[in-house]
Amino acid sequence: MNFENLNLIQPLLSAVKKKGYLNPTPIQEKAVPMILQGKDIFGCAQTGTGKTAAFALPILQLLETEKDRNQRRAVRALILAPTRELVAQISEEFKAYGAGLDIRLVTIYGGISQKAQTQTLQRGVDIIVAAPGRLLDLMNQGYVHLDKVEYLVLDEADRMLDMGFINDIRKITAKLPAKRQTLLFSATAPVEIRKLAASLLHNPVQVNLSPDTMPPILVAQSVFHVNKENKKLLLAHILQNEAVQNVLIFTRTKHGADKVVKNLTRSGIKALAIHGNKSQSARDKALRDFKTRSIRVLVATDVASRGIDVDKLSHVINYEIPEQAETYVHRIGRTGRAGEAGAAWSFCSTDEKPYLKNIHKLIRRNIDVVTSHPFAIN
Ligand code: AMP
Repeated sequence: MNFENLNLIQPLLSAVKKKGYLNPTPIQEKAVPMILQGKDIFGCAQTGTGKTAAFALPILQLLETEKDRNQRRAVRALILAPTRELVAQISEEFKAYGAGLDIRLVTIYGGISQKAQTQTLQRGVDIIVAAPGRLLDLMNQGYVHLDKVEYLVLDEADRMLDMGFINDIRKITAKLPAKRQTLLFSATAPVEIRKLAASLLHNPVQVNLSPDTMPPILVAQSVFHVNKENKKLLLAHILQNEAVQNVLIFTRTKHGADKVVKNLTRSGIKALAIHGNKSQSARDKALRDFKTRSIRVLVATDVASRGIDVDKLSHVINYEIPEQAETYVHRIGRTGRAGEAGAAWSFCSTDEKPYLKNIHKLIRRNIDVVTSHPFAIN
């Protein structure tokens, strides 16, 4: 793919060429068309992936092409980033890509006099690139009006949260019009980030960099350490929670799947299994019952689960941890589809810990450990 395929306007294509970029990076390929279409984005990407251009190019294009020529200049795009270095860097990229456009920008961060920043603001700008603290300060002094903002970007959202900017972010976003396009980028997705995303984004498209090694960012992952013989009790305990609306449970073996169904049935919970030893009609029935919600629990082996396509799966439970870490990613990708938040819970017995370690290595992310359950072990 080249930049022309991204349908960018000529001034942006020239700017990109001048920068010496030959081809879009993967995140640019994915994010630029989505942003141009007006979608909210939840992007999981590190610095160094070309992420800044991935949002700067389409935002510049939208500002340029959807301009109301009769209106006075007002702030239409707000980019928030955690540190002055990052703010300065983003600002430089906007300037470079927007060189051929009639677009004005101000860079706002603390630690220096506010004079130059307020003067630029008073002359009128289209884009603000800012660190939250100083921006809020200038807002409180009446220098900044955000009621015309159409595009909001939160870059390195996890770092902004780590640095304690959450309240500032909330105060700033409260001043923005509800109707706007929001893009949130974060390298990790702890629960606070997912909460923030849920409150700011509207039907977001998730952009992940390497889908095979990155579990969907909206999936809340937890692990329950538990003795093997207590797994059935833990499962029955968890299923008492009504928030677990429909759950797909994975086991490593067909025998294991049947045993889970048997135990659940004994505890009065309707469940069916699908695996290779079941007839096609039995599998079809199980899937149909699950889709129509006449059963809440479906138990599957990995092979059998491939054909399962159920919308809005609230939970995936790994009753047994898979030996292959990639299998884990595939399993939990069943939930949290299409921007819906989902949860993936894994039951890990002592002998399965090495598998869990491999999963951590693959996804390069910690999984929250749940200690507040009746069968917890260390
Ligand atoms: P970022 O992930 O936004 O920090 O970008 C990392 C670096 O990659 C920056 O120095 C960009 O100038 C550069 N860059 C962005 N897009 C491209 C591209 N398509 N080709 C080559 N370099 C790029």
